Amino acid sequence: METNTRMQFITTSDCLLEEKKNDLLAAVYEKDYLSAEQVYTAIFHHAANQSGFNENFEKRLHQIQTMFNKFKPALLAHCSPDLKDTNKHLNTLILNTIKCASGHTPIIDFPTWETILDLDPCQKDLLYQTAMTFQLTSGCSNYCRRCNEWALPKVRSHFSFNAVLTILNHMAEQKNDEVSLYGASDPLDWTADHKTLSDIIDHLGNLSLDYSILTKAPKAKASLLKRLLKTQANLSVSITAKNKARIQRIEGETGIRISKQHDLDALLIPARLDEDFISIKPSITDGYGTEITPDGAFIIIPTFTSALHPFGHKKIPVTKNTRFFPVKKTGRKALLVDYFKPLEVYDLQGKKHHLAGLLDVQIESIILDNGTDQLTPPGMRSLKEYLSIFEENPRLQRKKMTPSVMKRLKKRFLFNTSFKNLSQKTRSLYLKKIHGHLNLCKKKHCLMIKMYVISFFLESIHLYQQHHPVKVRIMQFLLKNEIQTVLPGPANPMVGRSPEAVLMDPDLDTFHIFRCYLFRLLDHPDEKAILEFIHTYPAAYDPVSDVFTAAQSQKHTPDPA
Ligand code: SF4
Repeated sequence: METNTRMQFITTSDCLLEEKKNDLLAAVYEKDYLSAEQVYTAIFHHAANQSGFNENFEKRLHQIQTMFNKFKPALLAHCSPDLKDTNKHLNTLILNTIKCASGHTPIIDFPTWETILDLDPCQKDLLYQTAMTFQLTSGCSNYCRRCNEWALPKVRSHFSFNAVLTILNHMAEQKNDEVSLYGASDPLDWTADHKTLSDIIDHLGNLSLDYSILTKAPKAKASLLKRLLKTQANLSVSITAKNKARIQRIEGETGIRISKQHDLDALLIPARLDEDFISIKPSITDGYGTEITPDGAFIIIPTFTSALHPFGHKKIPVTKNTRFFPVKKTGRKALLVDYFKPLEVYDLQGKKHHLAGLLDVQIESIILDNGTDQLTPPGMRSLKEYLSIFEENPRLQRKKMTPSVMKRLKKRFLFNTSFKNLSQKTRSLYLKKIHGHLNLCKKKHCLMIKMYVISFFLESIHLYQQHHPVKVRIMQFLLKNEIQTVLPGPANPMVGRSPEAVLMDPDLDTFHIFRCYLFRLLDHPDEKAILEFIHTYPAAYDPVSDVFTAAQSQKHTPDPA
């Protein structure tokens, strides 16, 4: 990971194939078919030169081929006849890999996996502590049409039984309290050393580590499923039209009611073969943390599901160079994370802190968040909702609630002690919380904080766009309808006024203003008025009071009133 000098944003690197996938997307969107053909040919040569595909490399090839099929008529109509052959050759290359997988399923032992990962002891501890997904197997026997994980067809490798137990033991030692035993695989597919998932569940019974299993119940695994049900394993079945009748039969035979998920006629988010590569959909990933797979380990950051991130999250490989690990947050806790604020992480000494800037992938979510309810699951706060707290009505509401807020803070900090007995640190935290609330109640301060919030986001986007021009082009395409409606025409009240004046206008919606400046900046990175605004309000995030404020190094308090 690379950090910008002012710590406003942190770049997480993309592998070459991911970069090429994005180059291809941008070329196709812009109808630049000459470039599209060159990039696609380069992708084929890059794939052909590999001695084998790792899991994520092959998943990306599947994404590229799915994308090719979506845009095939235009590509074949405008590119040379060679493109059709290149497409066939790439298909053959992938099919051969899948065929080879049928013959032999490697077992990955712990020393080999650990040696390849090559982490320092403190990195390993943090990996186990923050693991939210433990994928026992690579590849899946189900091959679901809408697999948002783009799981590889057919089982490709398994962790050895000893590797599974060792990794689970390490997680328990690091006080990790819960892990999902799936990912891009069906946990019932796992087998090694004549053991099955049932043996792993037995071992988990001896550890203080909860687990969850989600399965599609592969056909050949009915007896294993029955055994797991009888031992009351913590298991849910994801219901589809294909397995519904089979699951009902198993329920009838065992007399045990199976916990079910996704038992809906309409699946929530089209993915994989139903990905259209032109729309933005909610994130499918509901957690921050790490993922352990036979191919390695990854930091997982949720994203909206789109052509930019077809997995609905970004996988950042954990390597010797990894400097921080996200504090693990799953389920409801993850929903409460404001994705647009600097992330809470552990440094390599195991100390918790907030990053000073946003990860590039968070900035992409800010850009793609068009404010529609469809993008935000219930319980999660959208950027639009966050920006609305600076409007006049919410401010007045907050002011009214001041007595109850003070009561709550008093209860939290002075529950069984008095102010003078608080430590210096707790005292200052208590006061900061009080001032934080009171400032957001005062009109002048509330306006000032709004300036810093908008400045922080615009500066992050400005820095991001200098490093990621191709991704900016992709996002501009994905947002083209919104851009057309949001960008102000000549009669718009924003025209001819400074961002500061526009943001102070109580008749204008803050989120709408922000989207206008964001799009303007993406199109005109040197827009003087916006850069001056960023310069006037150099912003930073203060995690203690949970507000955006003046950056410490350049303390500066212009008066917005
Ligand atoms: S069972 Fe799960 S991991 Fe396997 S293909 Fe279906 S959705 Fe993907």
